Amino acid sequence: MAKLNPKSIKRPLPYLLEAEWNDFKGVISLENLRKDCPCAECTGESIGNIVYSRPKEVKNEPGAFDLVNLKPIGNYAIAAAWANGHQTGIYTWEKFRLIFEKYNLDENSLMELAEKNKKNAKKIQLSVLK
Ligand SMILES: [Zn+2]
Repeated sequence: MAKLNPKSIKRPLPYLLEAEWNDFKGVISLENLRKDCPCAECTGESIGNIVYSRPKEVKNEPGAFDLVNLKPIGNYAIAAAWANGHQTGIYTWEKFRLIFEKYNLDENSLMELAEKNKKNAKKIQLSVLK
């Protein structure tokens, strides 16, 4: 079986996460990592046909997509903590890799995201000045 944990994980920009495996390298937005949070609160809980809680959509509130900590759990997973206090998400290495394959950004998407984040930064500055 191939090793599922990446060789390296970096945060090249405040809103991006980059990971490299022996056979794959990807960069995704932290927003997508957060939106695919595998915890029970975010995905909902059901056993058979009985639904205990419904999946919860991530609100775009301050700090929601701001990663404050990423910590390996044993050798099988990584736990993410977000600035708004959400820290129940534990991504197995398998899930982590799938997220990178699913949301891997190409040049164009990276440029669009850079534009979007520039605008957001301006908005934040203006509201601070008021
Ligand atoms: Zn969650």
